[in-house]
Order: sequence, then structure tokens, then C-alpha cells
Amino acid sequence: MTATLTLHAGKSGSVRRRHPWIFAGSVASLKGRARSGDTVIVEDEHGTAVGRAAWSPASKIRARMWTFNPEETIDHAFFKRRIAQAVARRDGWAPLRGEQSEPGGERLIHGEADGLPGVIADRYGDLVVLQLTSAGADAWREAIVAGLVKASGCKYIYERSDSDVRKLEGLEPVSGWLTGKGLMELPPQAMPQIDEHGVRFGVDVVGGHKTGFYLDQRDNRLLLRALAKGRRILNCFCYTGGFSLQAMAGGAASIVSIDSSGPALEQARSNLAMNPQLDASSAEWRDADVFQALREYHKAGAQFDLIVLDPPKFAPSAAHADQAARAYKDINLFGFKLLAPGGLMMTYSCSGGIGLELFQKIVAGAAADAGRDARILRRLMASSDHPVGLAAPEGEYLKGLLVEVA
Ligand code: SAH
Repeated sequence: MTATLTLHAGKSGSVRRRHPWIFAGSVASLKGRARSGDTVIVEDEHGTAVGRAAWSPASKIRARMWTFNPEETIDHAFFKRRIAQAVARRDGWAPLRGEQSEPGGERLIHGEADGLPGVIADRYGDLVVLQLTSAGADAWREAIVAGLVKASGCKYIYERSDSDVRKLEGLEPVSGWLTGKGLMELPPQAMPQIDEHGVRFGVDVVGGHKTGFYLDQRDNRLLLRALAKGRRILNCFCYTGGFSLQAMAGGAASIVSIDSSGPALEQARSNLAMNPQLDASSAEWRDADVFQALREYHKAGAQFDLIVLDPPKFAPSAAHADQAARAYKDINLFGFKLLAPGGLMMTYSCSGGIGLELFQKIVAGAAADAGRDARILRRLMASSDHPVGLAAPEGEYLKGLLVEVA
């Protein structure tokens, strides 16, 4: 018997507006037995069913909606259908990808926004990296893997369910190759390579950040490439050189890239070596702390024509917003100080806890304190294969601004 979750009076509005999360405070009762990850029927205070959700007793997000249709059964066929839809709809988004119609790397499933809460799948050629972050997704692992193989035709699946958010769901970290049913393990030396707008990148799916590559910045890297010609560029938080190599492809005069991760820089150098068409003599890699490096450049009177600031998540949640705001302010302040007249800044925040409005305020404050007159040329967000559910705008974690100083 499927258990039934009854919402408190007045708490069904958000689900009716198709928001997929049910917080603990909205749950009046659970009738019947449900283990973590089990499907429950969700009903309002009058007993009218509003959909079906995955039960997650350890999490503040006590249930995540699988469907807003109470008649829809959650079974293997459900996942096969949803995954096939997620993969198929991306074909229609090809014109949004810029010059590249066949992406080498692509997000196939973007959690809530694809109707699959807690499921992330990134494709690198014939390899898919799967990340399951919620109790419901974890419980349906087998069905999700089968659906992915069917819809994507991939030969390899590496699971990277090692994100901290699993702890909030009472789940242990899980990583490794998924094998059987036609799936194979990739030998360690055979790291996948992708082509991004004609530039090659190696992707360390086992040891790299996230699923190995920041696919969310793909479209923004193409924008940088379009702006790079003849400019002296500083790429802060460069990871494996995504922005740097695209800047070189765009004809940057010089490109200095900074990161504090040795392995990321090593990968960046080897990525550059994989692209003999790029002029490696224009590139400088620095293993350094960006906060310090920016100060040193300022002291030395250095100037750049274009600065990219793509820091890690300083505020994982709203509780860290104050501390994070100071960190964003600091790097943006020094960024503005280092810009040559007419210079451009591409500045980002990927913190869920910092909204667009607040981020823009921080950047404006930094420009003012640096004594720079600046204008926004474009708002930036994640690539279109990382869509944002209109009903759940908090899914828009990545926000950026392209700013020009006078
Ligand atoms: N722009 C990159 C992704 C950046 S991810 C891309 O397109 O691929 C953030 C990076 O910041 C990580 O590589 C991490 O190693 C680095 N990092 C974190 N804190 C840092 C610090 N204080 N100084 C320098 N690099 C830092």
C-alpha cells in the first residue's frame, strides 16, 4: 500500500503551482509506512490528491514531487519516459548553443527542471556521469540507469554521487563505474575528451570537480571567445582552463590563468597541449590564491583588458550569504581596480544563497569603491542544457554580469 502524505491546511498552494519541494513544516501527517526514497501520494488538507512524491525523512525537504498527476504511477516506465523526454528535448535547443550544434559535453538531465529531482546526468561523448542527490533518486537508481542507457546510447556510466547534499538526505557517498547490462568500465588511462566549439578538453570524471567539467559555463566561454581578440585577459579560478583556451582561440593578446588547485592546473596545461592550433606562448598559468594574486597585481600596477571571475560557491545556502557577500565584494573590487579604461569584466556567482539582485548590488558596490564608472552589457546564466524551472526559480544558481568600465 502506498503511504499518503497529507499537507497542512493552506500548504498545498506551492505544489499546485508545480513547485517540486515539500518542506517538513508543510507535512501534517504520513498515513501508512514509507521508507526513505519510497513513493507517497500527496494530498491537501481536504484529502484531494495533488501528486506523487519521494519520501525523504532525514531531509528538511521532506518530499520531492515526481509528478503533479496523482494518477501517474512511479515505476520503471515512468523513469524511462521522463529520461527519454529530457534527452529528446535537448535536440530542440541546439540553436541556443551558439556555433556548435553537436556538443561534445552536455547536461542530459538537470534535476528538478527536467522533472527528475535529485538526478544529474552529464554526457561526455559515449560516457555519462550520473549524480544522484536525493533519497528518491537513489532508490530508483536501477531504473534511472536503464533509462539513461536506452535514451542516450551511452557505453559507460560513472556514478559521482559524492556531493555533500547527499548527507542532508541521509545518504552515503557513492562513486564508481556502473557495469553490467552492456555497460563497461573505462580503463583509468582512457580519460574522455570532448570538443567544445573546436577546442579539445580532457575530462577527469573520476577526480575532477562536479562531474569533471563545468558544462554550465559552455555558452559563456563562447561569449568570452567572441570578446577576446587583442585583449590582455586575466582568468581567475580557471580550473582546467575552459575560459582560457576559448580566449586563446578567440585571439587574446595574452592570458593569465589562476587557480589554487594543482591537479586542475596540470589538466589545464595538458588541455592546452591537446590543442596545437592555439598559441601556447600567450598563456601563463599561476598556482595561487586569487584573493592574494589580485592584491599583488594591484600593488605592481598591472592592468588587464578583460577579467573573468568565476569563483567556487562561496554561499552554499542563505545562511552563508553575509560572509560570501564580503568575498564576492573583495574579488570584484580588485577586479575593477585592475581593469584598463574600457575594460570588460565577466563576473559570476554560483551560490544558491546569493540571488541575482544581491549579486548585482555587490558588484555595483565594488565598482563604486574602486571609483569606476561601469555599465552592464549583458546578464549571464548557465547554458541552456541547465534550464531553470519557472515554478522553482531557486534552481538558477549561476548568475553573471558582463560589465564594461568607462
Ligand atoms: N571557470 C572554470 C570553473 C571554475 S570552478 C571553468 O569554466 O571550467 C572554481 C575554481 O576555483 C576551482 O578550480 C577551484 O580550484 C578554484 N579555487 C577555489 N578557491 C580558490 C582560491 N582562493 N584561489 C584560486 N582558486 C581557487
